[in-house]
Amino acid sequence: MQIAAHKVVKIHYTLTNEEGDILDSSRGQDPLAYIHGHGNIIPGLENALTGHSPGDRFQVTIPPEDAYGLRNDELVQSVPKSAFQGVDEILPGMQFQAQSPTGLQLVTVLDVEEDEVLLDGNHPMAGITLNFDVEVTDVRDASAEELDHGHVHGPGGHHH
Ligand SMILES: [Zn+2]
Repeated sequence: MQIAAHKVVKIHYTLTNEEGDILDSSRGQDPLAYIHGHGNIIPGLENALTGHSPGDRFQVTIPPEDAYGLRNDELVQSVPKSAFQGVDEILPGMQFQAQSPTGLQLVTVLDVEEDEVLLDGNHPMAGITLNFDVEVTDVRDASAEELDHGHVHGPGGHHH
C-alpha cells in the first residue's frame, strides 16, 4: 500500500543537522505513527513520504521554510529576572513554558545578566536545515475513529 491522504503511516527516522549531529531518532523505540495529509508532521517530510511503500528507505533534506520556519529576531527579548520567581538558578539553554497571547510558548534562555534574562521564543529547530533518514515500516487505512480524533491509536500512537 502506498502512502496517501488518510493512511496511517509508521516510520523510523534519524534526524541530523547540516553538521551531521543527531538531533532526534526513533531507532530503539516504537516507530513514529501519524495520519498522512493532516499536518501532523512537518510539511517537507510529509511531502517527501507521499507515494512511498513499506520497506522504502530514503534520505531527504528539508529547508527551514518546510520544517520549523525561519528564525524571527523579534522573538528574542530581555525580561527582568523577577519574572522567574520560584526558579533557583537560571542558566543558558534552559527552556520554560511562557504564557503568550496565542497560548503556551516554549522559550529558551540565551543569556543571563545581572538583572535581566535574554529569551528566545523561536522553535529550537527554527532556521535549521534538517536531514532525515527515513524508513517506512507500515502503511494502512486509518479507522473512522482515528480520522475523527485526528491521531493514531495503538503502538506509537495514542492509548485511551
Ligand atoms: Zn483518539
